Amino acid sequence: MSIVRIKDKTFETSILEREIKQRVKELAQQLSKDLEGKNPLLLCVLNGSFIFAADLMREITIPCEISFVKLASYDGITSTEKVKEIIGLNTDLTGRTVVIVEDIVDTGRTMQQMLYSLSFHNPESIHICTLFVKPEKLIVNLDVEYAAFSIPNDFIVGYGLDFDQQGRGLKDIYTLKED
Ligand code: 5GP
Ligand code: MG
Repeated sequence: MSIVRIKDKTFETSILEREIKQRVKELAQQLSKDLEGKNPLLLCVLNGSFIFAADLMREITIPCEISFVKLASYDGITSTEKVKEIIGLNTDLTGRTVVIVEDIVDTGRTMQQMLYSLSFHNPESIHICTLFVKPEKLIVNLDVEYAAFSIPNDFIVGYGLDFDQQGRGLKDIYTLKED
């Protein structure tokens, strides 16, 4: 087990790089099978999912495209009630098979807002693909079709996820240690 200090907090490893790689590959295989012939558009929700999306796309074996949007709901380590609007959607989604690529579905509010915003762009279908889901925190009714890991209600960093913008480059996932 290894420990990192970020600002005033201590984090310890909880999911290792090779486990993440393995699950990302499995998700990519599932997506490739389910969405064959659909030329899906991966919609990477920045910032947290940029590493996941890059790895996922390289494991997908069918033609697909990628686009990036931004939404934010977190301030430090506490969820803010208000989820901001979608920023930067510059791809025509009409008739497209859209796969939202997220880092974490926590309360689900961000995803709910995304689904609502995207519904006005007339996609053929929208699928949720997330690296992590925290089932204990989920308060909205969502069909999370593709999830790499279900995790407890702890704050995590690494593999794209931050604590106050730090820690995104960590290769493993680290969990906040309560002290
Ligand atoms: P939700 O709207 O589902 O409550 O929050 C989702 C967003 O909150 C995620 O996309 C992510 O950016 C952020 N988030 C939720 N839990 C964590 C966590 O444990 N660590 C980090 N770094 N971000 C989180
Ligand atoms: Mg996110």
